[in-house]
Amino acid sequence: MERLDNFIAGEFTPPVAGEYLENFEPATGEVLNLVADSDERDIAAAVDAAERAFPSWAATPAEERSRLLLRIAELLEQQLEEFALAESRDTGKPLWLARTLDIPRAVRNFRFFATAILHASSELHQTDTVALNYTLRQPLGTVGCISPWNLPLYLLSWKVAPALAAGNCVVAKPSELAPTTATLLARLCQQAGLLAGVLNIVHGRGSRAGAALVAHPSVRAISFTGGTQTGAEIARIAAPMFKKLSLELGGKNPMIVFDDCRFAEAVETAVRAAFSNQGEICLCSSRIFIHRRIYERFRSELLARARSLVVGDPLDPTTQQGALISEQHLAKVASYVELARAEGGTILCGGERVHLLGRCRNGWFFAPTLIEGLAPECRVNQEEIFGPVATLLPFEDEEELITAANGTPYGLAASVWTENLSRAHRIAERLQVGIVWVNCWMLRDLRTPFGGTKHSGIGREGGWEALRFFTEPKNVCIHLPRD
Ligand code: NAD
Repeated sequence: MERLDNFIAGEFTPPVAGEYLENFEPATGEVLNLVADSDERDIAAAVDAAERAFPSWAATPAEERSRLLLRIAELLEQQLEEFALAESRDTGKPLWLARTLDIPRAVRNFRFFATAILHASSELHQTDTVALNYTLRQPLGTVGCISPWNLPLYLLSWKVAPALAAGNCVVAKPSELAPTTATLLARLCQQAGLLAGVLNIVHGRGSRAGAALVAHPSVRAISFTGGTQTGAEIARIAAPMFKKLSLELGGKNPMIVFDDCRFAEAVETAVRAAFSNQGEICLCSSRIFIHRRIYERFRSELLARARSLVVGDPLDPTTQQGALISEQHLAKVASYVELARAEGGTILCGGERVHLLGRCRNGWFFAPTLIEGLAPECRVNQEEIFGPVATLLPFEDEEELITAANGTPYGLAASVWTENLSRAHRIAERLQVGIVWVNCWMLRDLRTPFGGTKHSGIGREGGWEALRFFTEPKNVCIHLPRD
């Protein structure tokens, strides 16, 4: 069986302990490959390689760093099919989605930061006639990038590309549940001619390899995307060590539909926002607030659309929803449907495991699920489920709506649907989230600040925010003597 080894100092290296984890294909429930179960010794070797590579990478002209990142993007684009297939088999997402969303976005991430670094400039402040202050933005050194399983290469490259562009060396720890494309990326970096040690990839469990990366004293910053609880654990270790921290965490995102919305578009987007990637996107809308005047009509259209979604083999082009990442995650999602029943909710559609035939007979599939009749304060409306489950909540009064929409510990994203411009601005201004989409969802511009507030995280990714995070500002003050 294929083994995914670590990538340290430009070489594929088995884990020191010689231990591997089984990596499952969610659509079949079978083992796909084995992935290094690394520990602190592997992390130490990777950090050491990064430290050794840092002086020459930091001194490499931005134009040359840019050229190498563009080369990576180009090779990735050429190998898109292989990467998309690996991503689909690792995660259970439809192959067409990996082909049109995940891998193209990873290509864009590399291109975006490869060119952004050519336009980066620093600030100058003239202090009357007394002094000139200018700000140097220097790379940090070795940084850690820890990413989740839901958009594996998309989110890994969203961190790695700006870190490298800014002149840092990286130790990346991909999710142990979807590690394959990270290894393919390592191979591609060799092909591109990236200096050994500039990007190192250490596989393994979060509690072992991830925790060792966070705790390593030479790692200057941690850029993390994943669950809120994990983020809290990372902050607990990293904060007393004064590491820079960027935490992109969970969400419980509201979609808010007013009665003057463009109805068909809102319904169509609600289906996408709730069920894309099996609902396993941090930005997915899991609470759909619908104005009472259109509630019945919206619900029945949405239900018809959700019921008609094809749950199937991710490799089949007609499949709209694939498998959930693991059996454990499937059980978690199912437990929330049970909880919804216990809390008095009505399951309008789905709510159960889907059993397929043939290749996927043991796969971890769950039907698109819509629930109504739950109060905003109940657990199903408060906790992140991260699966194909959304609740419908009628509303009338704008004040009550805002209170309910803001009434969770999370604050990642929201989507607001209205043709009333003043209302759109007013609501956007009052929502406690990092991102508001008006009459759209997940429409992304890589220059915009991306991230959440409250328990959805701290810091922002994207554009200059990412390049600022991965650099240390240093102010130099030059006194200008008068004589
Ligand atoms: P997770 O927190 O379990 O794992 C994320 C990564 O952290 C994995 O690589 C894991 O191995 C590692 N990890 C786990 N414990 C660790 C520890 N103690 N120290 C260091 N690293 C550790 O999350 P997941 O289940 O992979 O992903 C799902 C979660 O990610 C959801 O909550 C989702 O909302 C969130 N997410 C957020 C965003 C965002 O941009 N805000 C994007 C995607 C996913």
